[in-house]
Formats: sequence, structure tokens, C-alpha cells
Amino acid sequence: MKIADNLEMLELHMKVMGVERIVYPTLMWDDDNIILVDTGIPSSLEMIKKQTETAGVSFAKLNKIIATQQDIDHIAGIKGILSENPEVMVLAHEEDKPYIQGEKKVKRLNSKFMDRIKDLPEEERSRIVDMFENSSVKVNSTLSDGEVLPYCGGITVIHTPGHTPGHICLYHQMSKTLIAGDAMNILHGQLVGPNEDPMSEDGVKANDAIDSLKKFKDYDIVSIITYHGGLFNDKPNERIKEVIRDRKFYSYMK
Ligand SMILES: [Zn+2]
Repeated sequence: MKIADNLEMLELHMKVMGVERIVYPTLMWDDDNIILVDTGIPSSLEMIKKQTETAGVSFAKLNKIIATQQDIDHIAGIKGILSENPEVMVLAHEEDKPYIQGEKKVKRLNSKFMDRIKDLPEEERSRIVDMFENSSVKVNSTLSDGEVLPYCGGITVIHTPGHTPGHICLYHQMSKTLIAGDAMNILHGQLVGPNEDPMSEDGVKANDAIDSLKKFKDYDIVSIITYHGGLFNDKPNERIKEVIRDRKFYSYMK
């Protein structure tokens, strides 16, 4: 779906843990850069290619991937893209880099998680475990809070720890679009706060995910793209204030 000039929200359908889900990576570009923000899972590759080409962008010229975080359904698609185009640079925040590179084990793969997937059919279960164990990729460059990337007319990096220690959001200045990753979500058409089950560690607590939203007050936001809920464009700044005030978490993954 076109959100603004040179900015497209992709829509990837996937089955994870027996549940049909949709995620919404963002594609943005200028004359020299084609940037994909988050990548779905390995089986998403063909959908990404097709939707990129449909948006009028050459998948072969994709040259940057920005990961908003370490979580598997955001990064597990990177490897497949790199196998087709090894020149693609991977960018992420310093604090999630060791997890994305596989130097630290992603926190999601803990005993609680293994317990949750134990009743799935063996094929599905091993596919999930395999995805966790084999999705590591090298991060070529790290991003820091407040940094303005000189791509696509300027993209501001906003460090929003909570869901993960190195979770980032991106603000596309030209279109005033906030790419929110998992900092917020959409439930029944309404913008809501982060998931109640953040993977945070290293001293980052769940409540930090709400406190991180205060950073958005400095931005004039026309559209928000949430990774698990898609587009929200009904007076985003006003709604963000309410989300901060309410301090509510929600659950989208049972
Ligand atoms: Zn996520």
C-alpha cells in the first residue's frame, strides 16, 4: 500500500505457531537507496519481491535493510534476501546487534516459549526452532538515537527500548511517517501501546516501552506504520498522548 511518495507499506501473510498473521514491513527509496525496514520470515521472500516490484522498485537494487529489533519475525527474512543479493547492508541498533548476529541468544527462545510450542506438529515446531537457530546475520552498521540517516530525504532514528533493549523507530521526514516497529500496535482500528510480553533484559523493564513513547512528542506525525497492525493515520500525535497517559499493555500473541 502506498503511504506517501517513495514509501510503501508491504503486507506479508505468514503462519507462525499455527496462527495466520500479517506483518507490515516498510519499503522506502530515493535515487541511490532502496531500504527495507524489517523482513518477515524465510517464507516471506517471494512476497517481498513481488510487492517491491509492484511498487515500481527493483528488488535487485535493494541495498539496505534496517531491523527495528532482534525479534525473529522481523529479522528471519534477512538471510534469504542476502542470499540473492549479498551486497545489501544490514543496519540495527547497537544493543540488539549481538542478538541479530547470534552472539547472544534471543531471549524469546526460553523455556516458557519452548513450552508454548511443544504441542505444535513436529514439522511446525522444528521449523520455528530452526528459524531461531539459523537466522543470524552480520550487522554492517549500527544506528544511534537521534541520528539522521541521509537517505530518502532524511530518516531520524529514535531509540525506543522496551520491547527489546535496542528497539528503534524511524521517522521519515518528508512524509512525516513514523515507522513504529513494535513500539505500538493497532487493535480494533485503534492505536495502542506495546505488547505486554516484551523480551527486554539488561535492565530494560516493560514500563520503559511506554516511557519510550514520550520521544514521539517531538515529531509531527501524519502516519504511523506498526509492524503487526499496519497503518494508523487518525490524528496520531493526539492518540500517542492518550496511549502514554493510559500506560496500558495489551496482548496480541496468545
Ligand atoms: Zn514483532
